[in-house]
Amino acid sequence: MTQLVELTNTVPTPELLDAITSAQDLPEADQPRAIRTKLARHQKQALTFMQRREEGWAFNGKHPDVWEYVEHRVGDGSFVNRISDSHQKEQPENFQGGIIADPMGLGKTLTMIALTASDLMWVSLARRGNNEFASVGQTLVIVPPPLLGTWEEQLTEHVEPGAFSWCRHHGNDRLITTNDAHQPTIILTTYHTVSAEWRNAGESARSGIFSRRWRRIILDEAHIIRNHNSQMAHAICSLDGDSRWAVTGTPIQNKLSDLATLLKFLRIYPYSDKRCFDADFTNLWKNGQANEALKRLKRLAGCLILRRPSTTIQLPERRDLLCPVEFYPAERELYQDIRTRTIERLDEFLYANNADTVRLPSYVNVLQQIEGMRMVCNLGLYYRSRHDFTAQDPSADTTWNNAMAQRALDLQLEMNPVRCKDCKASLDVAFSLLGDTPEVQGLQQALLSQCMKFVCPECVFRRGGAPPVCDHTPVCPFAPVSISAITAKEAPEPAAIEFEGRDLMSPHEMPSKIKSLILQLKNLACDTKSVVFSTWRTTLDVIEAGLKTEDIPCLRFDGKIPQKERPNVINRFRHDPTCRVLLLTLSCGAVGLTLTVASYAFLMEPHWNPTLEDQALARIHRMGQTREVTTARFFIRDSFEERVMEVQEKKRKLVTVLLAPHGQGEGEEEDVGSLQFSI
Ligand SMILES: [Zn+2]
Ligand SMILES: [Zn+2]
Repeated sequence: MTQLVELTNTVPTPELLDAITSAQDLPEADQPRAIRTKLARHQKQALTFMQRREEGWAFNGKHPDVWEYVEHRVGDGSFVNRISDSHQKEQPENFQGGIIADPMGLGKTLTMIALTASDLMWVSLARRGNNEFASVGQTLVIVPPPLLGTWEEQLTEHVEPGAFSWCRHHGNDRLITTNDAHQPTIILTTYHTVSAEWRNAGESARSGIFSRRWRRIILDEAHIIRNHNSQMAHAICSLDGDSRWAVTGTPIQNKLSDLATLLKFLRIYPYSDKRCFDADFTNLWKNGQANEALKRLKRLAGCLILRRPSTTIQLPERRDLLCPVEFYPAERELYQDIRTRTIERLDEFLYANNADTVRLPSYVNVLQQIEGMRMVCNLGLYYRSRHDFTAQDPSADTTWNNAMAQRALDLQLEMNPVRCKDCKASLDVAFSLLGDTPEVQGLQQALLSQCMKFVCPECVFRRGGAPPVCDHTPVCPFAPVSISAITAKEAPEPAAIEFEGRDLMSPHEMPSKIKSLILQLKNLACDTKSVVFSTWRTTLDVIEAGLKTEDIPCLRFDGKIPQKERPNVINRFRHDPTCRVLLLTLSCGAVGLTLTVASYAFLMEPHWNPTLEDQALARIHRMGQTREVTTARFFIRDSFEERVMEVQEKKRKLVTVLLAPHGQGEGEEEDVGSLQFSI
C-alpha cells in the first residue's frame, strides 16, 4: 500500500532580535590582500564597521557613537554620553571592539578572518624583489571545540597561502611561548581551556595566555559566557587585549542581563560596570519607563552591535513543509500500550511527589516512557522487537546509581535546560554540545540528586568535597554525572532498543514514517541531494536498512564516526554523485558543517528544542546555496509528537518576552506536572 503524504506550508519562524537590527548603510571596505575569496558586499560593510570600532570612540561625531566630545568654548568642553545624555569632564576609557550579531548563514567566520587579515600590512621588499606580509600582533580566537576544525577549514580555504599562519592552543596542542618573530597570527583555543588555565594559575599568578596583551580577542558563540556567575566568564573577561569582539547570533537570549555580560567582557565604559548598566537600562524598565529603556537600547545597539537581517544576502527560497503520517493499526496499538503505561508512571510520580516521599526512579521512568512514545513514532514495531518492557518495572531497581542519574540528566536535558542549584548557571543541550571533555576542563563531574537537584562541575570544584544537600529529609542521594560532549552529544539510547543493523527489511516491516521518507526520496530528481536528521542513531539505523532494501546508497555522520573520518564523509557527500543521501544525528549536524550541496532536508521527528532544528537546517540554507531549499518535517498524526510541536511553538513565542528585564522570561519552562495534560 502506498501512503500518500499531505504537505502543508508552515509559517516561517520569527526572526529573533529584530528590535535591535542595525540598518545603517555602511560603505564597503577594501578587500584585504591576504584573503583570496572575494568578500560579499555585506562582509565588506562589516569590515568597515569593525575597522571604525577599532579606532576607538568617535569623539568627533564622525559617526554615531556612545561618547562624543562637545566643546562649549575654545579649549573647554565635555564628553557626552549619547545613550543617557549625561556629561563628564574626564575622557572616557578607550574602547575598541563590539558585537557581531548577524544571524546564522551570513559568513561571520570569514568576516572575522578578514578583519585579522586587514591588520597585515603589505610590505614591499624591493631589494629582494618579492613581497611579504608583516604581522602586527596576534589575535586570540576562543571557540567551542567543534568549531576549532571549522575555523581551520575556513582559514585554509580563504587565506592566501603563506600570508599568515595559525595554530591551536587546546588539548595536547599547547602554545609554546617564544619570542620568535614568526609567531602565528591567529591562535585558536576553547572556552574551557581558558577557564582551566585561569583556575590552575590561581587568581593572582598570570601565565600562558593571560601573560600577554593580545592584538585582538574574538569570542565565537559568545553567548556561552552569558551566565556572569560562572568562573568561565570570569576567566574570559580577565584576558588582556587591545580589541575585543563578541560574535553571537543571540546577544540577548531572554533577558537584558544577557547583554550586560557581553558588555562586561568588551569593557565598554561605563556599561561594563553592571551598576551603570542597571542605572541606565534595567532600572528604567523596572520603573515603568520601558519606552525610554528600549530607545536607549536601540541607540546603544546602533553603535556597538552589527546585526543585519538574514535577508541581507539573497539566499534561494526555502520551502518548509509538514509531513503528517498515519500509524498502521498495529503500530497504533503498540503506541496506545505505551501511552497507558506512561500515564500510570506519571500518576505514580506525581502522587509520590505530593506525599513528599520521592519514590524515584519513577521520575526517570516517566521520562523514559515519554521517550518510548516518541521512538515508536519513528521505529514502529521495531521498537517492540528490541525492547523488553520488564526491564522498566520500577520495583526492579530503585537505587540511585550513576547510570540512572546520567540517564535522568540526559533525558531532562533533551526537554529543558537544567539549572545548577548553587550558582543558577543553566545547562542546556545546545550548550552541552559545545562543551569540552572533562580532561580539558580539568574539572570533576557534576552531581545530580534523586530529586533532580543539579550541581555544576564548577560548584562541585568550589565545594571541595563538601556534600551538597536537597530540601528533603533525609537528604536524597547524589550521583556523579557527566556533562561532557561525549555523553551529552547524542540523545541517549537504552541498549535494549538498539537496532542491530540487519541488511535488508521486507517492505511490510518498514515503519510507516520511514516508508513515507523513502517514498519521498525516490520521487526526487536524480541530481538532488538530501540530508536526513534524527535525534536518535537507532532511527538512522532503521532508515539505513530501509534504504539498502531499496538500493539507495547513503552516508552516515553521527557520534560514532571517528573525528578524523568525518571530513572524508562530508567530502564524499559533496563530490560523489552517487551518494545522494546523508543520514545525520541532529546534534552532530547542529554545529560547524556546510552542507549546501544538499537542497532537501528531512527532519524525522520534532525535537523539544527548536533552536537545535534551526541550527541544523542552517547547514543547508546558507551562503553558498544556489538552489531552492525544501525542508520537510515528519510527525505522526494524533500522537505525542504533536504535543512536542506545541512546546516548540511556545518556545519560539518566548521571543516576545525577549527584551524583558532581568529575572523575567524564566519560570516558563515545562515541568513534569504540565506534561500530565499533554500526553
Ligand atoms: Zn554551579
Ligand atoms: Zn531531595
